[in-house]
Amino acid sequence: MQIVVLAGGIGGARFLLGVRAHARRIGAEVTAVVNVGDDVQMHGLRICPDLDSVMYTLGGAHDPERGWGRVGESWVVKEELAAYGAEPSWFGLGDKDVATHLVRTTMLTAGYPLSAVTEALCARWQPGVRLLPATDDRLETHVVAEVEGERRAIHFQEWWVRYRGDVPTHRFVFAGAEAAKPAAGVLDALGSADVVLVAPSNPVVSVAPVLAVPGIKEALADGPAPVVGVSPIIAGAAVRGMADRCLATIGVECSAAGVAGLYGARSAGGLLDGWLVDSSDAGVELPGARVRAVPLWMTDEDATAAMVAAALELA
Ligand code: GDP
Ligand code: CA
Repeated sequence: MQIVVLAGGIGGARFLLGVRAHARRIGAEVTAVVNVGDDVQMHGLRICPDLDSVMYTLGGAHDPERGWGRVGESWVVKEELAAYGAEPSWFGLGDKDVATHLVRTTMLTAGYPLSAVTEALCARWQPGVRLLPATDDRLETHVVAEVEGERRAIHFQEWWVRYRGDVPTHRFVFAGAEAAKPAAGVLDALGSADVVLVAPSNPVVSVAPVLAVPGIKEALADGPAPVVGVSPIIAGAAVRGMADRCLATIGVECSAAGVAGLYGARSAGGLLDGWLVDSSDAGVELPGARVRAVPLWMTDEDATAAMVAAALELA
């Protein structure tokens, strides 16, 4: 059995821990198609926050308290950059993390596509899941917002990390998306999938940039595999992260029903055949798709694997 998961960073990574656990039990193979909209160039380095969150988490090397980056991290490079007054100074760049970005940047500069670079990095971390960037092309999420008295388009990382998303925000733009192609392996994975799961990732800035790559939405719509989404919203709240702010910006209610409406039913030209919501959201409907309510708190790997089992059952 082939399982493909569309995923963002931390929520996607936690979900993938459960997918991997369940897949091992049933002998399935897993491919994760990961958001690259958060990717950014800083201090000459190419940084891929969501791919790294997934890789470090599945590799058992992430910092569970901070949520992102490496456990046992140190910050000498960041302090030295600050001593030079080098901007941006608001981005958390850990020493161990820097090594990952150096290897990645060197390989990209040598001409390897991001998918090949990701595979090379994963040789060390052995995530047990095939990690693919949604695209090998440059696609960045930019945010049109009011910052320091003027309307500007800033990188998503600046909006979130520097301003905590706490500025009047007009819209999100997936710069480069129109010209982007699915990364090597993505369409093949979708074409041979038995089921596609949409992780409980941020629908606006994690899942939407994946779907913005021309060809991916079409492959999902026309593909043989049922598509089942898992709600990132429980009882009207984004469990952690910024989904509430992002949904407000695009005028979608922060609820399991709101996100269901945003994705839409595949039978009606949308994304989903099935929608898994939390038990507290039982009763949510998505006409044209099947909805089931089960506990959706990703408290540990077993609880998350149980969510995955329910998603596969729905599929
Ligand atoms: P990011 O790229 O690091 O922001 O991570 P993702 O986009 O993959 O996931 C972030 C989203 O995961 C959050 O906005 C939450 O809505 C969702 N999330 C986090 N923890 C849980 C959980 O335990 N259960 C569910 N259902 N959703 C969660
Ligand atoms: Ca992210």
